[in-house]
Formats: sequence, C-alpha cells, structure tokens
Amino acid sequence: MIVAIDGPAATGKSTSAKLVAQKLGFTYLDTGAMYRCVTLSVLEQNFDLNDKKSLIFLLDSMEIKFKKSGSKTLVFLNRKDVSNDIRKTAVTSHVSAVSSIKEVRDFLVKNQRKIAKSNNCVVEGRDIGTIVFPEAEIKFFLVADMSIRAKRRQLELLKLGEKKSLDVLIKEIQKRDDLDSNRENSPLTKANDAIKVDTTNMTINSQIEYIVNRVKLITIGN
Ligand code: C5P
Repeated sequence: MIVAIDGPAATGKSTSAKLVAQKLGFTYLDTGAMYRCVTLSVLEQNFDLNDKKSLIFLLDSMEIKFKKSGSKTLVFLNRKDVSNDIRKTAVTSHVSAVSSIKEVRDFLVKNQRKIAKSNNCVVEGRDIGTIVFPEAEIKFFLVADMSIRAKRRQLELLKLGEKKSLDVLIKEIQKRDDLDSNRENSPLTKANDAIKVDTTNMTINSQIEYIVNRVKLITIGN
C-alpha cells in the first residue's frame, strides 16, 4: 500500500510522513532527500548541469541509502552520512534547478518505484500522487500559510546552526515554490484525488492523527 504525501516546502510533510510511517509500521521514503543528494553531488563536483552525458554517468555511480537510527532516518550518499549536509542552504538553493532536469527525475523515480514495490510505504514529495504513484491507495496534499512555513524552516535551520530572518526565508520558500510549480517536468500540483490538509493551525500530533485515521478508514473499508 502506498500513502502519498505531497505539498510545497515546509508544510509539515517530512515530520508527518515520518511519524505516520512509524505509527502504521510502514517504510518511510523521503524523495526530497534523494533530489538533495543529487544536488550535493553536483555541487561537490562543481558539475556542469548542461553536460547530460556526464550527468547520467554521475547518476549511475551514485548510491543513496536510508538507514533508521532510533527515531531518525539517516541519509547516506556513497556510504557517507549526509543527513545534515543535504539540509543546508547551499543545497536548498540549488535543488529546484537540479530537480527540474528530466534525466535526474527519470533516474530517481525509477529508484523510488523500486524501493516502494515490495513494501507498504509512506512516500513524501512533490509528484508522488501525480506521477510516481498515481495509483496510490490514498493521497494527501499538505498546505500552510507562508508565515508559519517560514517559522518552521527557521527552527529547522537553527538546529543545523544556521540563523536566517523570516523575511529572507519567505523569499527563499516562495522562489522554490515557483520553480517547483512551474517547471516543465512533473511540476508540483495537487492530484485530483488527493485530500488537501491545511496544517497552519494543526499541531504535529493532530496532523498525524488525521492522516493515520484517514488511512485506517480505507484499510477497514477493504
Ligand atoms: O521536500 P524537500 O524540501 O526536501 O525537497 C527538496 C526539493 O526537491 C524540492 O524543492 C523539489 O525541487 C525537489 N523535489 C521534487 N520532487 C519530489 C521531491 C522533491 O522535485 N518528489
């Protein structure tokens, strides 16, 4: 069974998806982390994104793995723990450009489908309900007001040792939303059959409870 959770940046997707997966005993798949890993590689190697042949070589030589460690899910890129590095501003400000490239998407979507093939999964991203798993049993699309999204991102960055003003964060989030929503390949959009959840005034617990209950409803129904 696939539970798809899509939505713009900082709407509570990751936190909800992780905890919903835990509650349901499902595998959690953070597809944004995969796009971030490709971006980190591109930046580390000072890579020219127009060089498609080398890009395919780079993708083929990349190994992205997720490992559970207590309540955390660590992300490994070529066996190195990059869980913190992929969340830093350098990666965040380039990830939309990298994720708009068709070759990158084709490669990662193939891997995402492989991971979820034989598992019950909660999959989080931008195109999960529309492109990656259009047949997902249940789909959610999370939204939230910009001010609360910026506050959430500010707290997340503080934990990584980065301080940023809300004004700067609002501009950054808006820019990323625009790029992700207006790209040619798999733009961020709500699937027609996705349940819209406005998390502005919801606590994490209420988000999780709402999603878990909706999932349970369809499993009982079957
Ligand atoms: O969810 P997160 O903010 O970590 O995603 C980082 C970026 O990865 C997004 O801004 C988007 O450009 C890209 N992404 C995507 N498709 C997905 C997941 C993430 O294009 N399924």
